[in-house]
Amino acid sequence: MTLDDLPLRDDLRGKQPYGAPQLDVPVQLNTNENPYPPSAALIDDLARAVRHGAATLNRYPDRDAVELRKDLADYLGHGLTARQVWAANGSNEIIQQILQAFGGPGRSAIGFEPSYSMHPIISGATGTRWIEAARDEGFAIDPEAAAADIRRHRPDVVFLTSPNNPTGTALPLDVIEHVLRAAPGMVVVDEAYAEFAREGTPSALALLADHPRLIVTRTMSKAFAMAGTRLGYLAADPAVIEGLLLVRLPYHLSTLTQAAARVALAHRAELLGTVDALRAERDATVDWLRGLGLTVADSDANFVLFGRFPDRHAVWEALLERGVLIRETGPQGWLRVSIGTPEEMAAFRAALEAALEGVIK
Ligand code: PMP
Repeated sequence: MTLDDLPLRDDLRGKQPYGAPQLDVPVQLNTNENPYPPSAALIDDLARAVRHGAATLNRYPDRDAVELRKDLADYLGHGLTARQVWAANGSNEIIQQILQAFGGPGRSAIGFEPSYSMHPIISGATGTRWIEAARDEGFAIDPEAAAADIRRHRPDVVFLTSPNNPTGTALPLDVIEHVLRAAPGMVVVDEAYAEFAREGTPSALALLADHPRLIVTRTMSKAFAMAGTRLGYLAADPAVIEGLLLVRLPYHLSTLTQAAARVALAHRAELLGTVDALRAERDATVDWLRGLGLTVADSDANFVLFGRFPDRHAVWEALLERGVLIRETGPQGWLRVSIGTPEEMAAFRAALEAALEGVIK
């Protein structure tokens, strides 16, 4: 039997699942993870917390994750409280809950592409019609053009990603404010990479107090180096969270997830201590790629988009042959590399130099 023989929803027929390749290669620079694993001391604390949580695994977890939300609010600052923070299994689940509550059949969501591929995919999965709007040549969003797109389409949900994946582009607050003024519905600013932004890049959290239809999403998968924990969260007006409670599955965040996330937050000095090194490595990577004569997008994230290659797949493959996995994503001709350790980036540079010689000659 094949999937075609099953009574699958018509709108899912012929679709491909999200699929960044998970290949076992020495240098993995393809999914924007933090390359630094937890320290031995943090592993011990995580193990202790899991052991403690394990004693109550016959019971359901705290359905509202109250203690975790207090810790997240404390981390975010901006005077936020637990009532304004919500958590789920990765920011992907956060996005899904937002679309379940504020999108859905008969409704639409808009994004400015190229951007995070899961926004349209989760829109599709929740029956929300996806509207693709454009960025300008340099991957920025023109505030007037964006406001005009929004006024024309009147989407129920607007996605802004800052810093943007896969381009690394951060949005100035005035662009977000323009969009908030034009949008008839919810505005989601996906700040998965916020901690990597260059000095002076403000977070949309600063706009929450004046904008009750604004949602700012974050994750512990990137700067916090906890991708395996699956913990995403958002900050918004408490009324928004009331809406999400209507669609979330009961007990969605396991006792062990809540415990691990709280330990990670308690160790944030250590975990976020890698951010400066990753930013420096990113800036050096941008300079090095430009030195090769390549076109490179400015990046406020932990990855760099570079190109443009007549045959990007050949370059991607040539790197893979040398044990370096990067991502074939973004507009035609571009490739994205996540920032790794200095050793991993040295391997990337050596592999790219060799690949370019092989591909160009
Ligand atoms: N938003 C953006 C912009 C991302 O790039 C990612 C991960 N690639 C996510 C959200 C989802 O991350 P997670 O589900 O691990 O929190």
